[in-house]
Amino acid sequence: RVPTRERMVVGNWKMHGSLALCREMVPAMASVAQPDAALVLCPPAPYLGEVARLAANTDVQCCAQNVADAHSGALTGEWSAGMLADLGCRYAIVGHSERRRHYHETDHLIAAKAQACLEAGITPIVCVGESWVHHQTGQTEVVLQHQLGTLLALPEWHRLIIAYEPVWAIGTGVAARPDTVEAAHRYIRSRFATRDPVVGNNMTVLYGGSVNADNATQLFALPDVDGALVGSASLQSDALMQIYTAA
Ligand code: PGA
Repeated sequence: RVPTRERMVVGNWKMHGSLALCREMVPAMASVAQPDAALVLCPPAPYLGEVARLAANTDVQCCAQNVADAHSGALTGEWSAGMLADLGCRYAIVGHSERRRHYHETDHLIAAKAQACLEAGITPIVCVGESWVHHQTGQTEVVLQHQLGTLLALPEWHRLIIAYEPVWAIGTGVAARPDTVEAAHRYIRSRFATRDPVVGNNMTVLYGGSVNADNATQLFALPDVDGALVGSASLQSDALMQIYTAA
């Protein structure tokens, strides 16, 4: 089945927040969420149940920040994509640069996690993006080609959502320039298009890295950008609402 491009704003709280924030954010976001543009919250794992419960019967979606590459087993500290589906979560972030860096996640492991999601009916939002050094030395496409290679080998590669997150723009307050973002998104689509041009055109590609209420409109106006993966601005309901409205 061919995917359809989706307008989407995903708020990644990282390891921030509280039960109180869940109870403030979900109803606030539910008051603005529309069925034609996804509004997705990614709380830390201990709060997924609460967010899923509060978001039930609203247009707010729940997403995990990480997931295991297996369905069950003696894997202390892990949770599976099936468990996320059980809670009513639709998505999981896979391969965020912080997990690649601090937890040594490889492209191989990230592909296995994406595969576990797809098998359980969870849509993986897979993060790719180059470091500052690779950006400066003009190697962005080489890095992306490598990161996308293992993903394109998955049987259900056409069901992935890709988030382009240049590592150097994450948490810095300085988003990548619109021409840089557009070029990377076009490249990502072109890689998928080598397997199927229709998928390249219709897949959902998000941008992440210092998206805020001021730059969201300009980024969302780019033809190959479908939405955003938002970190720090997603912890404030006003900022996240403004970003969502821009989408
Ligand atoms: P940021 O984080 O918006 O705080 O830069 C983005 C991300 O890491 O997904």
